[in-house]
Amino acid sequence: MHWSLKNKLVFSITLTSGLLLFIGVAFISFQNINIMKAHLVEQAKSTINLTGNYCISSLSFEDKESAEYVLESLADNDNILHAVLYDEQGSVFAQYKKQTDFSAPKFDSGQDTLIFDNTNLRIFHSLYYLNKKYGTLFIAFSTESLSRQVSEFIYSVIVILGLLFLLAIFMAHIFQKIIIRPVLALSDTTKKITENQDYSVRVKSRPQDEIGILYDAFNNLLDDVHRSQQQVNKAFAALRESEERYRKVVELSPNGIILHKEGKILYGNAAAVKLAGYTNPEELIGKNIFDFVHADFTEKVKERIAGMKSGVRDLPQIEEKLRRADGSILIAQVAAIPFFFDEQLTILTILQDITKIREAEQALRRSEVQFRSIFERSNDAMYVLTGERFSLVNPRFIELFGYTEEEVLSQDFNLMDLVSEQSKEHILKRREQNRRRQFEPSAYAFRAVTKDGRPLEVEVNLSQIEWDGKPAILGIIRDVTEQRMLAEQLQQSQKMEAIGVLAGGVAHDFNNLLTVISGHVELSLMKTDKDSMVFRHLTEIDKAGKRAQDLTRQLLAFSRKQVVQLQSVNINDLIKDMYKMLVRLIGEDIRLDTVLTKKIAPVKADPGQLDQILMNLIVNAADAINIRSGQGFKRRITIETDNVYLDDEGIEFPGTENGSGLYVLLSVSDTGVGMDEEVRSKIFDPFFTTKGMGKGTGLGMSTIYGIVKQNNGRIHVYSEKDLGTTVKIYWPSDQSKTSIKGKQKNQHDIIGGQETILFVEDEDSVREFAVTALRDLGYKIYQAGNAGQALHLVHQEKIKYDILVTDMVMPEMSGNELAEKLQESNPALKVIFTSGYTDGKLVNKGVLDESIHFLQKPYSVKTLSSIIRQVLDK
Ligand code: ADP
Ligand code: MG
Repeated sequence: MHWSLKNKLVFSITLTSGLLLFIGVAFISFQNINIMKAHLVEQAKSTINLTGNYCISSLSFEDKESAEYVLESLADNDNILHAVLYDEQGSVFAQYKKQTDFSAPKFDSGQDTLIFDNTNLRIFHSLYYLNKKYGTLFIAFSTESLSRQVSEFIYSVIVILGLLFLLAIFMAHIFQKIIIRPVLALSDTTKKITENQDYSVRVKSRPQDEIGILYDAFNNLLDDVHRSQQQVNKAFAALRESEERYRKVVELSPNGIILHKEGKILYGNAAAVKLAGYTNPEELIGKNIFDFVHADFTEKVKERIAGMKSGVRDLPQIEEKLRRADGSILIAQVAAIPFFFDEQLTILTILQDITKIREAEQALRRSEVQFRSIFERSNDAMYVLTGERFSLVNPRFIELFGYTEEEVLSQDFNLMDLVSEQSKEHILKRREQNRRRQFEPSAYAFRAVTKDGRPLEVEVNLSQIEWDGKPAILGIIRDVTEQRMLAEQLQQSQKMEAIGVLAGGVAHDFNNLLTVISGHVELSLMKTDKDSMVFRHLTEIDKAGKRAQDLTRQLLAFSRKQVVQLQSVNINDLIKDMYKMLVRLIGEDIRLDTVLTKKIAPVKADPGQLDQILMNLIVNAADAINIRSGQGFKRRITIETDNVYLDDEGIEFPGTENGSGLYVLLSVSDTGVGMDEEVRSKIFDPFFTTKGMGKGTGLGMSTIYGIVKQNNGRIHVYSEKDLGTTVKIYWPSDQSKTSIKGKQKNQHDIIGGQETILFVEDEDSVREFAVTALRDLGYKIYQAGNAGQALHLVHQEKIKYDILVTDMVMPEMSGNELAEKLQESNPALKVIFTSGYTDGKLVNKGVLDESIHFLQKPYSVKTLSSIIRQVLDK
């Protein structure tokens, strides 16, 4: 048990003062008791001396009575218990007894003695007179009063002592109060301060005694403590605030922040939880980080963690592939540093989700590549123009204009170099407009020019864009040269189609008439004397008929309704055959040269059409030379042939022997007037002529054009005004390389036969002429005006025949269908078709297959008999 300071103080003060009082009182009491004892002895001694003196006389006189009287007088003294007077010999002379039970004490030595025992004081006193001893007096005194006195004294001392002790206690209290109170107050205040943490409390100041000084010191101390406490509080609040701020920063950071140790996640902020694919932080905490690292990065991450453990502090950030809880992948930028947390070494990792950024980048890259490929692969030339300079051009632009990219993009490239003279004014005007007004998106056509001077028809489409932050113009140029050409060609062919329909219709009827006219003339010639006038007239009619036939042929070829029979033709042979005739045609004053390439490739063509082409070209050339005024120029026409290779654009190129690109070139050059561009652009137009009424038909060049196109050939006209013209025709070479040239040699004679012919023709005059001619040649003929009659003859009349000759175009049933019907019962049936034109059922594009036998109307007896013989002999 701990004693309070107060108790200790009270106890010690009380004990000390009690002890001192006790010692003091004990000392005083001892002194007083001794004094009282000595006083008693003095009294007793004086009493005994006095009494003794009285007794000596009694003794000397041996007067017992007086002695007893003297002794009796002692009764006045209450303290005297017994008095005995001994004589000289020691015998009892007289005695006084207060109480009867006393007996005289034995007197043994005669010496003076004083005996102090508990209850009484006994004194033996020798009685001397004049040095003579008379006896001894003995008196016993009671000490009772002394004892009573002593006990009374002790009693009062104890009372005083008790009072003093109480006083001491009281004083101790008072004392304690003076010292302990303020101390306690101090301690109370201290306690209160500690309990309430209220440092503003102060102790009340006191007079400047030691405690007062202590108080002041205490208050000063409190002031100090209070001040520093306030500072601490402030600092603490600041710390808490900043901690709160940091906590918020971490918690609310859009970047994932995690703390992990040995791979185990100790903390993850909201963003990290979300990144990992959870909704609750508890789901994340405790998981292993490698649950979230993509397999490709496991090694790398392990390496980094090992590095950090071994003290590497500034690891570079890396881009990692991570896996969410649901297995989806994300890409994150990861920074990691070693971090002390709760006194353990952990790793603080900060993750920024850059999946979207990477995806966007990829998409951007992809779209850039896509847009780039659109730009680079575009079939249109594209460019970006900033001010007067090209900032970007695509490969097609380079290809189209023939400049290199460096040239076009160079500082001193003049963009007007791309514009042809004709369009310069137009373009400059537009540019000026654009400069003056606001730029307006526009599209227009103009003529451009390539680096090597080739003109181009182009359409440009302009729009305004921003380029490197500046306004620029995006131009898209389309080369429409070919398109224009095609459009022109289409127009041309549409025109010709219309003419063709017209011409074809006329030619059909005209053909039949000519067949009859020429046929009858032929028959008449056979039966007329060669020397007669009639023969001469008939010859003239025959010639005119032939020319008329040529004209219809021309019309039909032009209208493409003419049925052509393709065969392999050596064009050199054909030119040689015609040479004499051509020379006669052009007259003597014009020289005709031929430059023929040996080993010319054969062409597949209708020889009649080739004749026609050659004749037309030569006639035009001769006309041009004759029109040309002035003297001193060579009047010359040159026919050339050559084997050439053409590419898809129709450009000649030196090629190999094989391949479909091999063409035979037929070129006719003259030294005539030539043409200007205007005439040149129109020469293929039907009925276009510069030769005036009655002279030109305007059908020559258009017919050539029609024939050439029909045979997939090409035609080019080069002309210089007042110098001459060259027409080049490219004819596809014949791949099969067969020629039937030899056979045709023997076809000039009219040969008949004994066979039976079934002849079907709806035109009566033609049928009659043919039947007459063929009967004359020895053939047996069955004739029919239509397919029905023919079928009747075969099936009903059961006629026998060797060959069917039938017109192709007939009402009700065509010759083609008739042939098919008859071939059902007789598959080996030989058939010859005749027609002015065909409607395309038998003939593909007007071109007959070589295996189908066909006779073009109008025909002569010679050609009719020759083809019949040819087919029958097969
Ligand atoms: P035509 O000869 O009946 O006038 P073409 O169709 O043969 O009709 O020719 C059309 C026009 O083409 C001619 O009128 C002429 O102006 C021009 N032409 C054709 N060939 C030549 C040539 N070799 N030299 C000059 N002009 C030519
Ligand atoms: Mg002509």
